[in-house]
Amino acid sequence: MIPYKIVRKDTDSVMAHILDDGNVEVHMPFDAPDQAAEDVVKLHLPNIEKQLAMRRKAIDTKTSINYSFHPLLFGKRYPIVKREGEFCEFNAKDGCFYVIPGLRQYQLKNFLKNLYTKIGNNVFSNQMQELSERMGVRYKHFQISQHTTPFGSCAARGELIELSWALAMTDKEFAESAIIHELAHTKYDDHYSPEFIAFVKAFCPDYDEINARAAEYEVMLRADGWILFGGKS
Ligand SMILES: [Zn+2]
Repeated sequence: MIPYKIVRKDTDSVMAHILDDGNVEVHMPFDAPDQAAEDVVKLHLPNIEKQLAMRRKAIDTKTSINYSFHPLLFGKRYPIVKREGEFCEFNAKDGCFYVIPGLRQYQLKNFLKNLYTKIGNNVFSNQMQELSERMGVRYKHFQISQHTTPFGSCAARGELIELSWALAMTDKEFAESAIIHELAHTKYDDHYSPEFIAFVKAFCPDYDEINARAAEYEVMLRADGWILFGGKS
C-alpha cells in the first residue's frame, strides 16, 4: 500500500486525489469508516501508482534544470532564481531574475527576449525623445528590432530608427551612445565624415572608447547563445 492522508469533508463520495507535490489524499464524508479510504486506494492502486510515477518525474525535471548562464541586464549579470509562481520577472531589489521552475532553456530565453523588448520599448523610447530634443533632430518612427545585432539602424534619415532588443543587455552608457549614433544619422548618412563624427562627439565626447565595447558585447552575446555561429539571429 501507499501512504495517504484522509480528508473529511462535506461530500457524498470517497475519492483519491494525487496532489502536485506527489502526496495522496482521500476525500470522504464525515461519517464514512476509515476502511472506505483504504478500499478506494486498493481498488485504484495501479492507476494511482502510475500517476504518482508521472508526477515524481515531472517534479524531478522541474528541479533538475540548471541554466548555464547569468543573463545580462544593462551591463551587469544577475543570477536566475527558480520560484514557484505565475510569472517570470526581473526583481531589481533582490537583484535576480525570478523564473518559474521547469522552464526549458529555450523558454527561459523567450522570457528574457520578451523582457528585454519590453524594457527597450519603455526605456529606449523615452531616451530617444530626450536625446533627439537635446540634439535638435527629428525622427518619425521608432521600434525595437527583432535582430540581435546590429544594435541599431536608421532608415531614410530618421523615417524609421530601430534599436535591437539586445541593447537592454549592454551598459547604459553604451546604449546611450548607440542611440546618439542613430539619431546623428537623421542628419548624416555616413560614418566617416568629419561632420558626422563631430556631431556624435558633441553629445558623446568619449564615443570612440564607448563604441569599442561593441566587440566585447558581441563576444558575450555569442557566449550566451544569443548570436548563433553561421548567421545572425
Ligand atoms: Zn550607423
